[in-house]
Amino acid sequence: MSDFGARLTQIRERMARAARRAGRGPDEITLLAVSKTFSVPAIEEAISCGVTRFGESRVQEAEAKVDALGGHISWDMIGHLQRNKVARALSLFGLIHSLDSLRLAERINRLAIEQGQVQDVLVEVNVTADAARTGVLPEQAEALVREAVAYPGLRVRGLMGMAPHSPDPEHARPHFVKLASLRERIAQAVPAASMEVLSMGMSGDFEVAIEEGASLIRVGSALFGRRNAGER
Ligand SMILES: *Cc1c(COP(=O)(O)O)cnc(C)c1O
Repeated sequence: MSDFGARLTQIRERMARAARRAGRGPDEITLLAVSKTFSVPAIEEAISCGVTRFGESRVQEAEAKVDALGGHISWDMIGHLQRNKVARALSLFGLIHSLDSLRLAERINRLAIEQGQVQDVLVEVNVTADAARTGVLPEQAEALVREAVAYPGLRVRGLMGMAPHSPDPEHARPHFVKLASLRERIAQAVPAASMEVLSMGMSGDFEVAIEEGASLIRVGSALFGRRNAGER
């Protein structure tokens, strides 16, 4: 088995154990392979192991990979999306995890309607309320969901969030608990939004995220190996 295949098997086992601890079924959780900064051959190896869904954080990098790899793969946008890149993003990404303002929602809506499509999005929440991070503050998330559901060109599917970086995954738990309860609250308050997706958990903390209700985890380095210093 390839290195990637061995790591994938291990991650899937860890996902299944975490799901079982929480009384959940392993198929309730989607694994998004975060391929940002990794090469086309590395992604080809992942595809040969059966991975079909990848996460990228830059439009231009994703475009180059989509051109090189062709169809049968779906791509998620997990990085901050600039408004001048929305038109390109709409033709690349099945799900955009980083809706973080009404202006961005307006632009996605307008261009999606022009292109005759409906774009799936998650509202990104800055759960730690750290000024250096992207996403809306937790107390602003419901208002953004309410405004976004009125737009026919986009469909709000849930929330995305990131715990602060820490060597101890337990430090992530309270942030995941908070995001999960926010999702629950918004799902009840805004029934028009589907809110079934809870995108949380990365290489260092995905098991805790699954225990706290993640429906999708975003795993890069634990699958592909370490990124070079300075790459995000
Ligand atoms: C890079 C990134 C990930 C994956 O990080 P790893 O620690 O390599 O698993 C997940 N989510 C977002 C938003 C990212 O930018």
